[in-house]
Amino acid sequence: MEHRARKRFGQNFLSDPNIIRKIVDAISPRSGDLVVEIGPGLGALTAPLLERLPLLHVVEIDRDLIAHLHEQYDPARLVIHEGDALKFDFGTLGERLKVVGNLPYNISTPILFHLADFADKVREMTFMLQKEVVQRMVAEPGTDEYGRLSVMLQYRFNMARLFDVPPGAFRPAPKVMSSIVRMAPKPVEALDANDPELLGEIVTAAFGQRRKTLRNTLRAFLVESDFSALGIDPGLRGERLSLGDFVAIANHCSERRSK
Ligand code: SAM
Repeated sequence: MEHRARKRFGQNFLSDPNIIRKIVDAISPRSGDLVVEIGPGLGALTAPLLERLPLLHVVEIDRDLIAHLHEQYDPARLVIHEGDALKFDFGTLGERLKVVGNLPYNISTPILFHLADFADKVREMTFMLQKEVVQRMVAEPGTDEYGRLSVMLQYRFNMARLFDVPPGAFRPAPKVMSSIVRMAPKPVEALDANDPELLGEIVTAAFGQRRKTLRNTLRAFLVESDFSALGIDPGLRGERLSLGDFVAIANHCSERRSK
């Protein structure tokens, strides 16, 4: 099919058969799996996934591509959800979901945060993203890449960068390198923030002005005595704090509020 790639939908279609095979092997679909692919596009991953699965869900926004998918695939095997993945209720599909896709890079951060809301329904997610975004997702404290995306996703998921994919594997070729990342939700017992929303507010504030110290960025949450009680130096910047530190700060604030 002739299709002019639409920039606004972040369209870079996979064309390298070896890379496609490697990605599908990483997804490792089994016949009993409940799988949803975000952005099937021209079907580069969809077709090999359907070779291994009796049924596959996809979420696609581009009407031309949706029409093509309807023509190409048996509706009894491919369930097409037409619309914006950012608004899609993944919870309606069922439990223990595997979410996969070569994600549109222009909406990668909002889509990751949207999916984090459904973590309790998800078994595993395998995505291709810009390499730089994956580096931020798995970054350790004290590095330039470490920030809000790292802390908030690491709170919910165990994540691993699996391998890189060069621009030449796509048509049209993007300007940047890509990476495959695997995300597995942490067990509920590991989610130890009393108030996850407050954790989000604190992390956002701590990284809002990266050059400023915690004394400034967390002024609305902590005074000097709180820093002492927590054993955290207020002269540090947010990038020095571990996930555990952020959770301790959030729990300290929520306990103080409820007293
Ligand atoms: N999976 C195909 C491949 O690997 O060749 C296409 C990947 S392309 C990078 C991203 C796909 O996501 C496109 O099909 C695009 O139309 C679709 N897309 C973009 N924004 C979307 C959104 N908000 N919701 C659902 N699909 C979207």
